[in-house]
Amino acid sequence: MNRNSGTIVFDLDGVVYLGSSAIAGAASTISELTARGWQLLYATNNSTKTPESVAGVLRDRVGVNADPGSIVTSGMAAASYLAENQLESAYVIGSPQLKNTVRAEGIEVVDSEGPDAVVVGFEKSVANDKIERAARSVGQGAVFVATNTDFTFPTPRGEVPGTGVIVAAVSEASGRECVTCGKPGRPMYELINQRVRTDRVIMVGDRPETDIAFAQASGWESVLTLTGVTASPADVPGQFAPDRVVASIADLHGIMALDPR
Ligand SMILES: [Mg+2]
Repeated sequence: MNRNSGTIVFDLDGVVYLGSSAIAGAASTISELTARGWQLLYATNNSTKTPESVAGVLRDRVGVNADPGSIVTSGMAAASYLAENQLESAYVIGSPQLKNTVRAEGIEVVDSEGPDAVVVGFEKSVANDKIERAARSVGQGAVFVATNTDFTFPTPRGEVPGTGVIVAAVSEASGRECVTCGKPGRPMYELINQRVRTDRVIMVGDRPETDIAFAQASGWESVLTLTGVTASPADVPGQFAPDRVVASIADLHGIMALDPR
């Protein structure tokens, strides 16, 4: 049995990297945690990437070797939700990678009327006719599935509009609520929980209403980092108060080393 029997689930954007740059100290912290026996998993609400491409980013930008099997995306959570609910066809707003992730679950990606589901992920230049088609399909009874509902994501130039903005457009136009599959949704929890091999789980993230809410809903400990969308603990809504706050992933060294179980 490892001395440190625990799993750390890392959010990526705003925690391990920001845009195309690693957060300082991320590689050395991750390597030390691995050496100490922590199981490390990565959970991103970015639906535009596959686990393999995320592993490539971790290797090339951060200097971390991560098994693609340890990486879960909100696109995977959406695809698995469709499969579990026997939804056989989907109209998809999102990246080619998201469409491939959906197809990999045996679901047909369609452009025609009357799909079983509408999946909304991130697309940088989403045209209004896609919003119209998605809203119309939802209005006609398609299940409305969102990879995530984060209104922004962090970049070196500040927060920029994210998937939640597109989801809100479809929701407003159709008058319907979505099922959120990525963090803090249940489908993402199920994908991560399949991979967890320990009783103790700690979620490390930068977005309270996504990452800390996810930890709370999952019964895990939570750590908030201040390198992403949250500048100060004073900005955190009370209901999403984390168990701990650290300035950056680099500060996990001390906390985790002192706190094995
Ligand atoms: Mg984040």
